[in-house]
Amino acid sequence: MNPVLSVSGIERSFGMDVALRGVDLDVAQGEILAIMGPSGSGKSTLLHILAGVLTPDAGTATYRDPATSETAELSALGEAARAKLRLSEFGFIFQFGQLLPDLSAVDNVSLPLLLAGQPRKVALRQARRWLERLGLDAHAQKLPSELSGGQAQRVAIARALVTAPKVIFADEPTGALDSLSAEQVMLTLTELSRASGTTVVLVTHDARTAAYADREIVVRDGKLSGLAR
Ligand code: ADP
Ligand code: MG
Repeated sequence: MNPVLSVSGIERSFGMDVALRGVDLDVAQGEILAIMGPSGSGKSTLLHILAGVLTPDAGTATYRDPATSETAELSALGEAARAKLRLSEFGFIFQFGQLLPDLSAVDNVSLPLLLAGQPRKVALRQARRWLERLGLDAHAQKLPSELSGGQAQRVAIARALVTAPKVIFADEPTGALDSLSAEQVMLTLTELSRASGTTVVLVTHDARTAAYADREIVVRDGKLSGLAR
């Protein structure tokens, strides 16, 4: 395997609450990986450690840039360095899209590019291109409250992809959607990531969402408990 992400011996607690108790995992370059398991089992904690959002109490989390093969030990970096790496390398999609409510769809999508220092004109042009690609051009000027759940989630996908990330992390990306919208979101996400070779790590408790992945793993009580299929 050619891992882009590797974690080894990961332990993480929140106060007395043990979220992860010894997790080893490699995520291959270009793979779409689904992390399944019951509520409270440690899925989001694992995702956040893989993405350098959280650091583990023990163990290591490593990111290997697929373009340069340079590695960064996320678990040894400070918050500022991890934030910088997240912004340049990773994209994030959450259960409720988390679009900024006062910004139009196109402004939401252009935001990561503005944060990365792109001129406004360039950022807006790129954002429009992505919205078009997702069939959302007619909705570019709408506020999130004027979009359906599925449309809003596809805008969130455009926002996650606009910086051409190496890895996309998605936590329950279909959790708030009806099954038809969920299917459209997963088709969009998997087609785009396959076309660009982007690695996707997604957390879901929905078997139909996980079925879009190349591989499913299950977290139970803070440990990996074998394959789901
Ligand atoms: P899942 O995503 O599988 O539902 P989580 O990773 O969110 O599970 O949580 C695993 C355990 O860690 C739970 O017992 C949860 O209450 C606890 N936990 C997660 N995040 C926090 C936090 N920020 N503060 C306190 N406890 C947390
Ligand atoms: Mg969770």
